[in-house]
Amino acid sequence: MKTFLFLIILSVSLFSKVDINLSHTKIKNGTTFAVILQSDQFLSQAPNVIFKNKTYQMFTINGSTKKYRVFLPVDYYSKKQKENVQVRYLLNGKLNKNNFAIDIIDGNYKKNEIIKVAKGKVTLSNKEYKKVYSNVYSKITLYDLTLNSSFSDPMQSKITSAFGNARIYNGTTKSYHTGTDYRAKVGTNIYASNNGVVALVMDRFYLGKVVYIDHGRGAYSYYSHMSDFLVKKGQVVKKGEVIGKSGKTGRITGPHLHYAFRLYNITVDPLQ
Ligand SMILES: [Zn+2]
Repeated sequence: MKTFLFLIILSVSLFSKVDINLSHTKIKNGTTFAVILQSDQFLSQAPNVIFKNKTYQMFTINGSTKKYRVFLPVDYYSKKQKENVQVRYLLNGKLNKNNFAIDIIDGNYKKNEIIKVAKGKVTLSNKEYKKVYSNVYSKITLYDLTLNSSFSDPMQSKITSAFGNARIYNGTTKSYHTGTDYRAKVGTNIYASNNGVVALVMDRFYLGKVVYIDHGRGAYSYYSHMSDFLVKKGQVVKKGEVIGKSGKTGRITGPHLHYAFRLYNITVDPLQ
């Protein structure tokens, strides 16, 4: 009888199936990709993904312990080269490591976007730099605060500048455009792009008056250059709820909404 049971268990593990899929194998710098794992057996532990020397925990999809997913960010400054994605999962007490090769490719962003701003707004002051903003983005809420909802636009308006443009401020290349700009006169409603919790409400050097929303699992959206805040830190917000009014605060050439996104503390294209 014991041998018989052992054989059954052995045969289950021999034929147990784990499917791992990547949403993309060619990934543009500054964008996001997903790793999805589906098993025909329940997994006792959440699988991990190792990508560019960082370990990311995978999360269950709809609470199932057979289906997991994680969204991974590719930094804008990533080298255009092959990278390895390693998925690690425990099955029947054995640690499995599956490797996938991906290509980081050029996002072909606009090269020279010339911006003229007030002299004092070209470089960040030390005082501002010392404030620890990264503490906000570094916090990873383990729950999906979007409640499995997809993202929507923060307003319906013309996009005046896309994510990723290389920018020249007053004649010097300083950085790239870290978000998407929407044309918006002062006082236009700004809507939460998804469900979440307000993580920060603050007046910053570049971004001006800004609201950060934590969507869980390392994902944050933020909304800059506001004239008025309509939410407070810690407040639960619903997708489509008005969180503030657009304005012209911070480093800006004219009133607009700068909408941006961070995933595991890495800036990615918010519209993707
Ligand atoms: Zn912008």
